[in-house]
Amino acid sequence: MTSAGATTNRPPVRTPDNPRGLRDLPFELPEVTPAEKRRARAVLKALRERYPDAKCALTYSTPHELLIATILSAQTTDANVNKATPALFKAFPTPQDYANATPKQIEPYVKSLGFFRNKSLAIHESMRDIVERFDGEVPSEMDDLLTLRGVARKTANVVLGNAFGINNGFVVDTHIERLSKRFSLAPEDATVTMVERYLCALVPRDAWAEMSHLFIAHGRAVCKARGGTCAEDAICRRFCSNA
Ligand code: SF4
Repeated sequence: MTSAGATTNRPPVRTPDNPRGLRDLPFELPEVTPAEKRRARAVLKALRERYPDAKCALTYSTPHELLIATILSAQTTDANVNKATPALFKAFPTPQDYANATPKQIEPYVKSLGFFRNKSLAIHESMRDIVERFDGEVPSEMDDLLTLRGVARKTANVVLGNAFGINNGFVVDTHIERLSKRFSLAPEDATVTMVERYLCALVPRDAWAEMSHLFIAHGRAVCKARGGTCAEDAICRRFCSNA
């Protein structure tokens, strides 16, 4: 989901030209029409009704566990992460426990997930930072999260949106990119970066994290990367350009 081992992050640039309520975002939003926003809200409503239980697929019970699970999810599936984390979380219950350990001691628990040396180092250093600079609590500010090792904007958005209910951006994975384009919420040739900006401009801010989970739920259930059930599904028929 994210790049493992990102270390340097610049302070975000504020954007006074964005619509009210979105001026703290560190990027400019594309212009969208009121009709396009209404349509995005209709997609949100239809997906909400279809998938009322859609939520973050990573297993966690505290903000620091979600941060670790998100770091581990780079280049692998949430299901694989969920297989590895119970033993990891049991062996290291608190940020202090990771800080006290060496990356080598963390490695055996995450070895199955790829890039395990980088990921172990990122976990160790981010937890050490949390202990030393944030009193052992995961910070709930984007700028603070971005100072932690292994935490880029996507990881920070997952943590803020799911652990703290704060929406500072839209996490765009492969399902979200595909469905945004098929539902004509972003242009067909938009990059992942631009898809995020279109979604931020179109979807009500308090629903950004929820909408991510709804897209993923529809992507997994109906619109698979190869061969969706086009034309058989009511939501697809209503919103998709392919149906
Ligand atoms: S109609 Fe087909 S391509 Fe469109 S969202 Fe549904 S399954 Fe995906």
